[in-house]
Amino acid sequence: TETQTTPELTTDLTTPEPTTARTLPGILAERAFTSPDRVAYVHHVDGEDHTEQLTYGELERDARARAAALLDRGLAGGRAVLAHDTGLDFVRDLFACFLAGVAAVPVQVPNRRHGVVRMSRIAADAGTSVLLTSSRVAERLADYADMPELAELTLVDSAGLRGAATWLPGDESGPDDLALLQYTSGSTGHPKGVEVTHRNFWHNTADILTQWPIPEHGRVASWLPLFHDLGLLFGAVLPVRAGVPVHLMSPGAFVRRPLRWLEIIGKHRVTHVAAPNFAFQMCLDAVAGRGVPAGLDLSSCAAALNGAEPVRWSTVSRFVEVFAEAGFRASAPAPAYGLAEATLHVTGTRQDMPPHAISIDAARAADGVAVPVPAGTANSLRVVSCGTPAPGTVVRVVDPVTRLPVGRRGIGEIWVRGPGVARGYWQRPAETSATFRAVIAGEGPETHLRTGDLGFLHDGELYVCGRHKDVLIRNGRNYYPNDLELAAEGAHPLLRAGSSAAFAVERAGRELFVLAVEVDGRLLRAVGLPELVGLVTAAVERDLAVVLDEVVPIQRGTLAKTTSGKVQRAEMRRQYLDGALSAVARGSGS
Ligand code: ATP
Ligand code: MG
Repeated sequence: TETQTTPELTTDLTTPEPTTARTLPGILAERAFTSPDRVAYVHHVDGEDHTEQLTYGELERDARARAAALLDRGLAGGRAVLAHDTGLDFVRDLFACFLAGVAAVPVQVPNRRHGVVRMSRIAADAGTSVLLTSSRVAERLADYADMPELAELTLVDSAGLRGAATWLPGDESGPDDLALLQYTSGSTGHPKGVEVTHRNFWHNTADILTQWPIPEHGRVASWLPLFHDLGLLFGAVLPVRAGVPVHLMSPGAFVRRPLRWLEIIGKHRVTHVAAPNFAFQMCLDAVAGRGVPAGLDLSSCAAALNGAEPVRWSTVSRFVEVFAEAGFRASAPAPAYGLAEATLHVTGTRQDMPPHAISIDAARAADGVAVPVPAGTANSLRVVSCGTPAPGTVVRVVDPVTRLPVGRRGIGEIWVRGPGVARGYWQRPAETSATFRAVIAGEGPETHLRTGDLGFLHDGELYVCGRHKDVLIRNGRNYYPNDLELAAEGAHPLLRAGSSAAFAVERAGRELFVLAVEVDGRLLRAVGLPELVGLVTAAVERDLAVVLDEVVPIQRGTLAKTTSGKVQRAEMRRQYLDGALSAVARGSGS
């Protein structure tokens, strides 16, 4: 029956640990000792064949010299901001911090004034003024020398950090020491600093390797920003943990020509990659109408993680179809779910399993119940399975108000318990206890992480519906903006994926549903504005049986996104209310 309580979502498998190390600095020391000449990082400086490399021996030596200098500066037990572009200096400084027992605080190198403000806010929140960077970055930052925010920071050219070469790490960083303050993406508000310990890293990387084992001959490739949770874990931490090389390139190099990413997989026989859904979609767009480039070989790829934002079945299935020609395996896509508060990983589809999706009744979903229906049924939602947690991690679905586990098929908040769950938010005790110490009503003392995401369990797997904060409510029914956006973007072939934001505003006591969507000249030449608004409204009504009150066509490139490319709906809502949207012209959908 539907009132029966859902079981805990767990998996019991054991992870082999062929090492005696228990922390990242520990495993780096081990690898530098046993295989000093093995390549750890390859940075594709131009996104193509111009590369710089770092072996385990070089990384350990450089990181140790820098760590000794950080200790000379009295930073032990403190924090340091890492402001680097994608490259080897980022990993040198990251491991220097790990070795010295200094918590690393990665940030994006600002390229605008508001970026400088964001960086200085993070430094102030983290309680440090030390900014580890390079002379190249420092030169660029000189453009903002007039800003008081920058004057508060001490820029340190980390290439010049040289402590005693004889210094050896002792007990600077134990398993329960802070390794990192990972600032969240800021999709829903101001970024918060998540306290990630060495133990968190150790267990979360073990979880990832249980679901996606990387063999000794394996290779990783990543263009994700290193200062975000997914990019940091996948591009900087996991490869050393697994003992395999990683090929890095900058997000800019990827965006300018997405196929570079796939070419690197082919040329270097890469086995593991990870990216948000939009990146797979960009690759599809890049080959649309042109065909898959001859000679592209994706057959080495065992797992392509798709996570960090909603996974769209249309993207996953189309990618398999289109790139089968290049040898891409049907089992390779690995939808996954996670968040910085859990270090990164919560659930995933194992690499020997093909990805899968189910359709659920849209109206019942709006009432909080996930009822499977045959694919293609009218008014249904296609939801992609994000798989299962690794052993030791437990996922529960809980009513966010009553804190009781939801009934069978119930949609509720995703709660997580496990060794990857971070200690809390840096210096935010109230938010830490509310988010990290939640107890299920009527159950034992165990505490859980409240993810703020809504989802359901089906056949022992997790399906994610969307963020609680972003949900649109009408007549007591819940609508997920990502579902509205997906439907809207399907209304015309020239509308791009990931180009819209749905949000609700209150007017005269009524919740109005608004959707802002980017349009460009080509689209407007193909279809008039009123007609486009009509198409979008009709598509949303057809798929979700809900009528949009207003469709706002906005200039291309003005949809608010985080530095990791996530839509900021609350920010779009604020701009709408302030009359600050870059509207092309207003149309009313109702
Ligand atoms: P902030 O917390 O500052 O608003 P953020 O939540 O985007 O930013 P991250 O921790 O980087 O910061 O992202 C985690 C969030 O990304 C999750 O809480 C969830 O909302 C979303 N997410 C991650 N994986 C998936 C997935 N597979 N499907 C849907 N959403 C996902
Ligand atoms: Mg979050």
